[in-house]
Amino acid sequence: MSPQEGSSTRHNWTRDQVLALFNQPFNNLLFDAQVVHRQHFDPNQVQLSTLLSIKTGACPEDCKYCPQSARYDTGLEKEKLLELEQVIAAAKIAKASGSSRFCMGAAWRSPHDRDIPVVSAMIREVKALGLETCMTLGMLSEEQSEKLADAGLDYYNHNLDTSKEFYGEVITTRTFQDRLNTLANVRNSGMKVCAGGIVGMGEEQQDRAGLLMALANLPVHPESVPINMLVKVAGTPMADQADLDPFEFIRTIAVARLMMPKSYVRLSAGREDMNEQMQAMAFMAGANSIFYCDKLLTTPNPKANTDMQLFERLGIKPEEYQADKDSLQHEEDLHRAINEHKNDALFYSAS
Ligand code: SF4
Repeated sequence: MSPQEGSSTRHNWTRDQVLALFNQPFNNLLFDAQVVHRQHFDPNQVQLSTLLSIKTGACPEDCKYCPQSARYDTGLEKEKLLELEQVIAAAKIAKASGSSRFCMGAAWRSPHDRDIPVVSAMIREVKALGLETCMTLGMLSEEQSEKLADAGLDYYNHNLDTSKEFYGEVITTRTFQDRLNTLANVRNSGMKVCAGGIVGMGEEQQDRAGLLMALANLPVHPESVPINMLVKVAGTPMADQADLDPFEFIRTIAVARLMMPKSYVRLSAGREDMNEQMQAMAFMAGANSIFYCDKLLTTPNPKANTDMQLFERLGIKPEEYQADKDSLQHEEDLHRAINEHKNDALFYSAS
């Protein structure tokens, strides 16, 4: 398939077509993905999001990769829902450090209706700082989606995690269809959709293809597609999972880029275990968004200053860094972050 064919916005992929993309020679796949990437994005810009865990642990779900499930003993310290002031303070730091989007995650099966006014206040306050907002709170009803949209939430994250076929090996407490229903509620309420999955959980290539097929065949492509590499956390059922071939991870990024050419493809959890060369290859394959903070909810993330140093070496600019012409302070903060190498304290630790 030519890159041009791959770059049209399609919603009718078959698994064989997706597997054909996966199984091209590696260099052809990367080249095609880069061609398509350049049709829709500046190849030297990466969008930065910061993720804050606003409520940690004690989740009733049984996602086998997740240290926040109450079913696994991972030593994770539980936290109640953060106070509004704590969230605002973390968002200010994220903005000063170069992030354009602030994502807030709560380890819930779904929010209670009584939680909605509380998280709505968080949305309003974070938006007032000039940041885009994203939340991941579990399953949402139609009504809850409407309320979050009314509060001004820009993005809602809800991952499909894996293929429909492999899904039961990963989670049993909610169905694949439940996830699709939440994504439909989010889309119908007018919010942007952030949905992706995790690779390296013991799935086959056809499952990685099935995940991307399910995402790309949604009526509208998710605006943001996080591709996570499993972080093997001791105490979870996936702690001893075999490593996925790193090139297969890069192939997954490239195929996501070809299938969802206008979406931001986010290099998400698992970056801590990727060397600089692998991250650079992921950007070449079409990844153009990262989480930029010390922790991804509760798993380690490369230190922000390390990210900035890698960006400098690759000639990559944070997306809003260029777009935000009014904020000279913003520029100063970024240069300080790059040059002083001591900005760890700027980042809120979400665990
Ligand atoms: S992934 Fe989300 S829903 Fe699943 S156990 Fe973790 S916090 Fe709960």
